[in-house]
Amino acid sequence: MFTKARFKLTAWYVVIILIISTLFSIAFYNASTREIDRIIDRLEFERQHSEFRLFRPLRSSNAPSIEELLSYKERMRMTLLFVNGLIFIFSAGAAYFLAGRTLRPIKIMVDEQNQFISNASHELRTPIATLRAEMEGKLLEKRISDKAARKLITSNLEELGRLQNLANDLLKLAQTHTINNDENKQEMLSLLEVIKTAYNKVSPLAKQKKIKITIKSVENIIKGDKNSLIELFVILFDNAIKYSSENSEITVTSEITEHKTKIAIADQGIGISKEDLPHIFERFFRADKSRSMIDGYGLGLSIAKKIVEAHRGSIDVDSKISKGSTFKVIMPLA
Ligand code: ADP
Repeated sequence: MFTKARFKLTAWYVVIILIISTLFSIAFYNASTREIDRIIDRLEFERQHSEFRLFRPLRSSNAPSIEELLSYKERMRMTLLFVNGLIFIFSAGAAYFLAGRTLRPIKIMVDEQNQFISNASHELRTPIATLRAEMEGKLLEKRISDKAARKLITSNLEELGRLQNLANDLLKLAQTHTINNDENKQEMLSLLEVIKTAYNKVSPLAKQKKIKITIKSVENIIKGDKNSLIELFVILFDNAIKYSSENSEITVTSEITEHKTKIAIADQGIGISKEDLPHIFERFFRADKSRSMIDGYGLGLSIAKKIVEAHRGSIDVDSKISKGSTFKVIMPLA
């Protein structure tokens, strides 16, 4: 598909360059030969009316003859044709190269989109297949007891919950594209308030695992979309809780450097290996350990990164296996 598009674009580039160079050559040829044509006309007139001596002879002993002038015109035509041929060859090569460069970002985007669709379909297939297998299995049984029916419904609801979470994550990922464009949604926000709202949403989970969350000195004013920023901290808190053991601690701190605020969320959890660190912000990436231990789809951090970038900020992580992870968000101050 892209090879065909590249050739088409190359052809368009070459056609445009050739039209311009041909028009330029014609204009150049006409301008340079206009005077020669006039001299030729005059010499011919003189030759035909050699007895008519009203005209002062134009041709001096070393002036060019008509034949020389005509051959000069012919040489100029050939030179321009040759130059246009060279331009054609050179422009075809350059156009092919430029077409490749023009199409490269589009190709990368389409490849990413295809990869995303295939990952999403793959993630959707597993809970759907489980739901189907469980129900078909039960249908084959002659009689279903009340207890078995309840067990089936409970398990189905669990799978449906997973599907719902995936659908929500996919929707959030799609919505983050529009954050930056919607100026109406941007407002002055207290960072502390945003973090506390996010904390309130995750505190039942933290309580369940007896994890203590401490929020220290984070009172700064930033400009942004409130709901997305709350979502950002919910994702980071949620991960910190999910990947930490019971009775551990999570600490939130902030510091200001050059019109920016740096917020750090540190946990004492399982940590991330050096090999996995470069990939954790990729869509659908999950470390093997997390895959086997904890529910998730690997979309949270890619949503978080998109939110931070939409607010002209950056997100980074320091982590050591079995020691814990610190996610650092840097955002411009309002
Ligand atoms: P999910 O948590 O649903 O798997 P995320 O995109 O939020 O998806 O995280 C991607 C991966 O990064 C996780 O699967 C996990 O391996 C790793 N990770 C994220 N946050 C932490 C953390 N606080 N501690 C340890 N590992 C983490």
